[in-house]
Amino acid sequence: MPGPETRRDALRAVLAERGVDAALVTAPADVRYLSGFTGSNGALLVAADGTDRLATDGRYLEQAAGQSPGLEVLPARAVAAALVAAAAGTVAYQAQHVTVALHADLVAAGEDRVELVELGPAVEELRRVKDDAELALLRTACEVTDAALADLLDSVHVGDTERALALRLETRFRELGADGAAFASIVAGGPHSAVPHHEPTDRPLAAGDLLKVDCGARWAGYCADTTRTVVVGAAPAGWQQEVHDVVRAAQRAGLDAVRPGAAARDVDAAARSVVEGAGWGERFVHGLGHGVGLEVHEAPLLAASSSGRIDARVPVTVEPGVYLPGSGGVRIEDVCVLLDDASRVELTGTGRELRRVG
Ligand code: ZN
Ligand code: ZN
Repeated sequence: MPGPETRRDALRAVLAERGVDAALVTAPADVRYLSGFTGSNGALLVAADGTDRLATDGRYLEQAAGQSPGLEVLPARAVAAALVAAAAGTVAYQAQHVTVALHADLVAAGEDRVELVELGPAVEELRRVKDDAELALLRTACEVTDAALADLLDSVHVGDTERALALRLETRFRELGADGAAFASIVAGGPHSAVPHHEPTDRPLAAGDLLKVDCGARWAGYCADTTRTVVVGAAPAGWQQEVHDVVRAAQRAGLDAVRPGAAARDVDAAARSVVEGAGWGERFVHGLGHGVGLEVHEAPLLAASSSGRIDARVPVTVEPGVYLPGSGGVRIEDVCVLLDDASRVELTGTGRELRRVG
């Protein structure tokens, strides 16, 4: 089973290609991916000559020894600067995860010995393709999410507030063994369902409301992401069914377009053309989907602007939506992944129909 050492070797190959002496990794998800370390203050130096080291402070030394066996651990409070202070040559840093203030500290720590260059998204690129262990964890995250969401929808009643439902859902994630919620759950009732990323409020659900819930459990670091839209306390109204039918057909078209070698923008277009055909193209105000893994939003992006292709072992969400301001909105979201044999597996996927709850 490939582990952090194998992943660091993959990054080392990138360094060798570029003629860089070391990579300074400061993005928390990347530090975790390459070392196993999950503490909140850690940085990792991956060196071309193999002298990799993890820096963390006194609160996490024991944890680092347990989670990152075989890695030299450097005790430090200013973790990134300490690694640079102990390095020499060209060090590639993650500009997107380094503040201007930290950059100044790194320059000072490197004195005349270190030349800082930009690493770019090299680690995120490695993280796109998941190994078997990662896929297994993601699958569990998705199963727990499906189960918790089904339990939540079975328990909804008219009068429940969005905030109460969000709390119930996130409690259920933990009861089922998850780390917790991968992101703040979106629970949006009635007109709020037309807001793509609505934050739950104390508004009580009314009969006839659309209820949109976008949520995901985190399991051993891996993030699920799914959305269902239902109707509360009444049979669906004609317009609700009409919108839902279009979004569901768009999602099916998007899922079916996830095929080996497909251009990410074509997957987006497959779903979007269904929504456009129904006259709601302008109401589908976001991209079709994104990668999931140690972060809930990671590479690749499925959007009209995307340049990448769909590969095996790259889990992505497919989540078309139609939002009618003042009335309501529908989104249906699932995680799918192509396996090595080109088969497509939907990791979430219970009950996509528009059903009445409560
Ligand atoms: Zn989502
Ligand atoms: Zn999503």
